[in-house]
Amino acid sequence: MQYLDEQFWKRIKIWEDVSLENWQNWKWQIANRLTSLLPLRNVLNISKQEEIAFEKTADIFHFGTTPYYLSLIKDFKDRQNPIRKQIFPSLEELDEEVQKLGSLDPFLEDKMPSIQGITHRYPDRVLFRATNFCSVYCRHCMRKRMFLEEERARTKEEYEEMFEYIKKNKNIKEVLISGGDPLTLPNKKLEFILDNLYKIDHIDIIRIGSRELVVNPYRFFDERLLELFDRYDKVWIVTHFNHPDEVTDITKKAVKLILSTGTPVLNQTVLLKGINDDEKTIETLMRDLLRTKIKPYYLFFCDPVKGVLHFRTDLEKGIKIMDYLRGRLSGLGIPIYAVDLEGGLGKVPIFPQYLIEKGKSHATFRNFENKIVKIFF
Ligand SMILES: *Cc1c(COP(=O)(O)O)cnc(C)c1O
Ligand code: SF4
Repeated sequence: MQYLDEQFWKRIKIWEDVSLENWQNWKWQIANRLTSLLPLRNVLNISKQEEIAFEKTADIFHFGTTPYYLSLIKDFKDRQNPIRKQIFPSLEELDEEVQKLGSLDPFLEDKMPSIQGITHRYPDRVLFRATNFCSVYCRHCMRKRMFLEEERARTKEEYEEMFEYIKKNKNIKEVLISGGDPLTLPNKKLEFILDNLYKIDHIDIIRIGSRELVVNPYRFFDERLLELFDRYDKVWIVTHFNHPDEVTDITKKAVKLILSTGTPVLNQTVLLKGINDDEKTIETLMRDLLRTKIKPYYLFFCDPVKGVLHFRTDLEKGIKIMDYLRGRLSGLGIPIYAVDLEGGLGKVPIFPQYLIEKGKSHATFRNFENKIVKIFF
């Protein structure tokens, strides 16, 4: 967890004169996104390699960050900083192997069904991609393909078609509003989406997948948004923290505001090589999330996306981390380690092996301390 000084952004010269009022305004954060290195050339200690990577990746996957997210970098000289690595292009993305192995839409999200913006993989829930805009471009993003198109919210007609699909499929109980980042949409548009989903009786749960809590927590200082959460009480929020440095006292404040509206907050982490792929970092992250009252939900094995595979760890690494967590950390803080299967075949959970052997009337287990225990039944 990072405790930020009052006016912590002022240590960065270009934001020296920004007032608290502006800095805390989520719209200011988005309007003042950094999409070029130039303003920060002197601050960030950019290497020649990074500079080349910036140029070479410009057409494939942009650079972009909110001022807030960038300001969480503790030491600008440290090129291995976990936040820097999530937003700065690297030449590894262009590595032949990394390019060859991945695909741009490994889960065939754009093909199921043929309604633009809807992915219907499981019988009872659908993915509803509301916009392809994000306030930060994460290098490991699994929907990189989106940003190759024009970045915009969907049109009213497109939304209507999506609502129609959901209305007709009565098995659908849950809608996952995702993106891009749906919480970058103006409140009016969100209200329009929520209002239309509320008109469909068979929807019990509305899950909003957003990284704004990580990259622009001031989004939740917006009273109009909190009013919407209060009014539309089927809403759950799932966010995406990957490293303890991302959890701050401002996060805590934002979560408190969200929880005051009766909206639960859960988290999905992606296991990323060189960023969070060790036991201690994940343990600390899960503890920080719990302290902030965010429930860890998934820990994902890195998806096979083009230009992302240099972040992929061994499958084993995640199992080892899960084994380490068990018994050391409150069960509330233990996520489900999962792999999303290519071809849109769904997510599968993977666990360390605790059931060693099973007979007709007995079973042998291994506990968290590696003690072998046999039970009879
Ligand atoms: C991940 C995902 C879901 C949600 O899965 P949960 O296990 O319920 O979190 C639903 N639809 C699609 C297409 C997904 O990729
Ligand atoms: S916020 Fe999510 S959708 Fe947007 S770039 Fe990051 S990982 Fe991708």
